[in-house]
Amino acid sequence: KCHNELVRLKGNIRVFGRVRPITKEDGEGAEAANAVTFDADDDAVLHLLHKGKLVSFELDKVFPPQASQEEVFQEVQALVTSCIDGYNVCIFAYGQTGAGKTYTMEGTAANPGINQRALQLLFSEVRGKAADWDYAISVSAAEIYNESLRDLLGKEPQEKLEIKLCPDGSGQLYVPGLTEFRVQSVEDINKVFEFGHVNRATECTNLNEHSSRSHALLIVTVRGLDRSTGLCTAGKLNLVDLAGSERVGRSGAEGSRLREAQHINKSLSALGDVIYALRSRQGHVPFRNSKLTYLLQDSLSGDSKTLMMVQVSPAEKNTSETLCSLKFAERVR
Ligand code: ADP
Ligand code: MG
Repeated sequence: KCHNELVRLKGNIRVFGRVRPITKEDGEGAEAANAVTFDADDDAVLHLLHKGKLVSFELDKVFPPQASQEEVFQEVQALVTSCIDGYNVCIFAYGQTGAGKTYTMEGTAANPGINQRALQLLFSEVRGKAADWDYAISVSAAEIYNESLRDLLGKEPQEKLEIKLCPDGSGQLYVPGLTEFRVQSVEDINKVFEFGHVNRATECTNLNEHSSRSHALLIVTVRGLDRSTGLCTAGKLNLVDLAGSERVGRSGAEGSRLREAQHINKSLSALGDVIYALRSRQGHVPFRNSKLTYLLQDSLSGDSKTLMMVQVSPAEKNTSETLCSLKFAERVR
């Protein structure tokens, strides 16, 4: 199957699936049984056994549990480097809590994910560019929780930030006060990531729970200047670890837990609606229905490129959520 052909036909939105391996938390025996299977000759298809029925899904590409971080990144790197040419790119990890979103985006020290690999690739690519061009790479990190946006790299991480329209009439959006750090090496980005983690953990009693209920964004800006002609480029890479997509609230959640669930449902469906509207070339794209889509408006529209990485668990006990996630994937594809 010709991947490039697929990309050309499908335009600027791609939907990949990634199935994590069975873990100890999935339980033992029947409970941990594997409910997801693949086709040997078609890497875009997966099958889910749900309540005795086999349901098949076709995405743009599917990564089985044994796919390495390198293999995943290979399919992502062309998107990453297009920022150097001035494109805006969004990469989202979607799925229920525990399905591997953070593993895919952040990864582990031994097996770094897309965030770290993307920055490393950008550093090496701009170093190899023509001598006339100067590039600057900078990063911001933000979190959206209960529809409010905060700066993970700022001195006041509790402060709520607003999204504003640029006063220059360009129609571009910006976030006054969002900290941006210039980075030049892997050591720089490690320092920035550590700082962001510390800020994310401030004032929350359980970081794991908190991170599953908020969207984490790493925003990388690549600015280029051609010294001989004065030509400028600016591309943005938005790397987003979304809040868990599991349905909460059905079983009597109350108070703050219910409010969180409502905010998550609202923003994930708003994201689905926006991508669906862009994909089906509808005139009206409802960017304003959530903070996330509003913030990312200029990285989702126009000639921007979007990748939705839908993460699922292979475990039998998770098949209801897996089915929901794969339906979401199919809708936006
Ligand atoms: P999420 O961010 O969606 O809640 P995590 O990324 O934290 O999920 O993954 C849950 C657990 O599964 C973690 O312990 C993680 O290291 C492990 N895991 C997820 N995906 C993979 C993978 N592809 N290979 C190995 N371990 C994985
Ligand atoms: Mg996570």
